[in-house]
Amino acid sequence: MDLYEYQARDLFAKHGVPVLAGKVASTPDEAFEAATELLKEGDLVVVKAQVKTGGRGKAGGVKLARSAEEAKEKAEEILGMSIKGHTVHRVLIAAGADIAEEYYFSILLDRSQRRYLAMCSVEGGMEIEQLAVERPEALAKVAVNPIEGVTEAKAHEIVDAAGFPEELKGQVVEVIVKLGEVYAGEDATLVEVNPLVKTSGGEIIALDGKVTVDDNARFRQPDHEALVDKQTENPLEAKAKGLGLNYVKLDGGSVGIIGNGAGLVMSTLDVVAYAGEEYGVGPANFLDIGGGADATVMSNGLDVILGDPDVKSVFVNVFGGITACDQVATGIVKALEILGDAATKPIVVRLDGNNVAEGRAILQEANHPLVTLVGTMDGAAAKAAELAAK
Ligand code: GDP
Ligand code: MN
Repeated sequence: MDLYEYQARDLFAKHGVPVLAGKVASTPDEAFEAATELLKEGDLVVVKAQVKTGGRGKAGGVKLARSAEEAKEKAEEILGMSIKGHTVHRVLIAAGADIAEEYYFSILLDRSQRRYLAMCSVEGGMEIEQLAVERPEALAKVAVNPIEGVTEAKAHEIVDAAGFPEELKGQVVEVIVKLGEVYAGEDATLVEVNPLVKTSGGEIIALDGKVTVDDNARFRQPDHEALVDKQTENPLEAKAKGLGLNYVKLDGGSVGIIGNGAGLVMSTLDVVAYAGEEYGVGPANFLDIGGGADATVMSNGLDVILGDPDVKSVFVNVFGGITACDQVATGIVKALEILGDAATKPIVVRLDGNNVAEGRAILQEANHPLVTLVGTMDGAAAKAAELAAK
């Protein structure tokens, strides 16, 4: 999950990374109040669009203000703006920094090297992708052993490689070690600070933060649950999560897919994509009902899949293992009873594995008007694609 800048700042502050005081506002009046508070301490505030994308500065989403009235005006301009397709619902009102220099620092998971990778430059502020292409020698890249993390020695190696002036090294090392603690302590896969600044007073401050936390670590990071943005979360994904189901929405397709087990679901996606070429259709989503697919799980699963307005047909592809085919078939029949009129789209079912004959017999006997039973995976995919194209 990508975090908003204000959430990243909170995590920075929690781990002792120096940031400037700030407050989130979702209306111009709240911005006015926040700015009034902050202007007691200084003479400048920044109004910053909170969207999960970069380049806000260039897009006009970062503005300076010298009075609460001005902060309110800037907030009015920025709230509701669209930046790279992201609507601005909140702004961060932060104490303004008097910037002397802008630097760059990030640490991320480097899967191919099975390491963490720290990147650092004394030329921050601008788009780092551009710097990496145009002047790669200005961007230091230092591998970090994940067992050791960002030690003080490692942080020294990073600031040396980036070419910080001698008198700043100690201060920057201290900040980088703390950013390493954010990365490890929060189970992050990315911590990026652009810009990391030196103020005219000589302080090192993280002025903009970007953090991605690993959702697979949620079980040991209960605090991260509160960081989920309900406003922009896909409502069906939220509903599925609440039901304990793994549902993923895909773009552009119209065949809903339900299967048991990640491997089978992934190959079902491939088969539907392949069979769908002829009809110009593809997968709309997929849902893994896992091992114990009883009637409740099946009806919850169908309910979620049918709740996706893009879905024109559903492909239920189940291999009977621990849960045998007759139990799955009973589950489908009961699920359709539970759903009643809520089930409106054709459902193609392919069953194989344990007790397949019994399973098919149950579905045939039920003779539900929406259900088509197909014997093979390819055949079922073709049928589901054909029905979705109608
Ligand atoms: P981004 O464009 O989405 O990366 O947003 P940033 O938070 O990095 O802001 C973009 C630029 O605005 C920074 O590189 C700074 O030059 C400028 N900026 C941000 N905050 C301040 C501030 O407190 N004071 C001043 N003078 N400039 C700021
Ligand atoms: Mn930035």
